Amino acid sequence: MRWEGNRESDNVEDRRGEGGGGGFPIGGRGIGIGTVVLALIGWGVFGINPLTTIGVLSGGGAPQVQQAPAHRPPGDDQGAKFVSTVLASTEDVWSQIFSQGGSQYRNPKLVLYTGVTPTACGTGQAAMGPFYCPGDQKVYLDMDFFNTMSRQLGAPGVFARAYVVAHEVGHHVQNLLGISGKVDGMRGRISEREQNALSVRLELQADCFAGIWANKSQQAKNWLDQGDIESAVNAAQQIGDDKLQRESTGVVRPDSFTHGSSAQRVRWFTQGYKTGSVKACDTFSAPSL
Ligand SMILES: [Zn+2]
Repeated sequence: MRWEGNRESDNVEDRRGEGGGGGFPIGGRGIGIGTVVLALIGWGVFGINPLTTIGVLSGGGAPQVQQAPAHRPPGDDQGAKFVSTVLASTEDVWSQIFSQGGSQYRNPKLVLYTGVTPTACGTGQAAMGPFYCPGDQKVYLDMDFFNTMSRQLGAPGVFARAYVVAHEVGHHVQNLLGISGKVDGMRGRISEREQNALSVRLELQADCFAGIWANKSQQAKNWLDQGDIESAVNAAQQIGDDKLQRESTGVVRPDSFTHGSSAQRVRWFTQGYKTGSVKACDTFSAPSL
């Protein structure tokens, strides 16, 4: 992926080295930073089960978050430059798609942090993996997750990292479209098993939206190299719920999936990439995933 020299987003907030501390952990359960892999399995990749996050919000428990003034990342930081460039490209792509549909896209913020940080959804912890908080419309990313992907999850490659960012932005798009809100409205009226099934459809749609971004950004910039799409598809493959469960416990329990199987994640990312169409990403009406 030839990303250098492209526009960088102004919407990246650098909280690295600030320390977070305090607050309550999302989902009401604390996780040590050392338990990255276990946590990834527990919370799902990427990020926590979105329904958990939304539940925190609808429970009225979201605290007022006190924060230091936002800082931009230093200009010579390659990792931050990469993330800012990918974010800028998602802004371009989604602005265009929204305006074609007669509405206006609102850019999310992306927060770089290390370890823990306060969010409108509770205390964000690196062990959860990257996540999106609908309450403050921010994507939270500890870039150490990229190392976890390469070293522990078998998902190396710069475009695999771009897919992570695009997936989280996909959750922001779902928030703007009111999809997450609708799903949240089902809470308490359906069983845990049905909630998990809805979470899977939400996650696979975020994968599909990441695929749309890959399609449109490539059309606009022609910046992908051979192997880039494969690296994103491989990442989707490596982080399927079935694969993670098999590796951690030896047992696969589809009822407990929150993000979808490897095959499903690959299928929906590819669907978005091949079609570039939001309509083609309707995982909620799809008879089979
Ligand atoms: Zn997700």
